Amino acid sequence: MNEQTNPTAPRPQGVPVIWAPSQTGPCARCHQPTCRYGVGGNPLCPSCKTARQAQHGG
Ligand SMILES: [Zn+2]
Repeated sequence: MNEQTNPTAPRPQGVPVIWAPSQTGPCARCHQPTCRYGVGGNPLCPSCKTARQAQHGG
């Protein structure tokens, strides 16, 4: 029994967040956390944006 405290606690697995927390907001369609605000922000998540473009022909 010689366990040491790991200084780098493992982060919970999930969707990788690549934008700032202040840019995070719920998708207007599926309500999943997405980059809504700031540079590159969009009210729709990538999945919904792709579906919307496909529906409207780009
Ligand atoms: Zn969505």
